[in-house]
Amino acid sequence: MKISIADYEDYLFDHYKSHGIDTSLFMKLVEEVGEVAEVLNKRDGRKASVNEDLKSQLANELVDVIHYAFAIASLNQINLNDVILEKDKKASIKYHHERNLEQFMSER
Ligand SMILES: [Mg+2]
Repeated sequence: MKISIADYEDYLFDHYKSHGIDTSLFMKLVEEVGEVAEVLNKRDGRKASVNEDLKSQLANELVDVIHYAFAIASLNQINLNDVILEKDKKASIKYHHERNLEQFMSER
């Protein structure tokens, strides 16, 4: 099964709408970013690690980051699909990319 950005935002809005406090979600987001840092530190030898599946841990922590970022966006009625395309378009101009995301998608 593939999920879309809109599906995930709708799902998280439904889940968090009664909580309504996106600052607490932001604190969770920051915590999860720290967990990504911890895994990368283990992977790169800056922190001890014994027989851990660091790739799996990294994947799970990145998903946690995405979860809270998407939740905050959904509670603020931000259409991430559109903002991702808009920001990528601006960045592609600013940094002289060969093509932007929208062009990449249309060429597939
Ligand atoms: Mg986590």
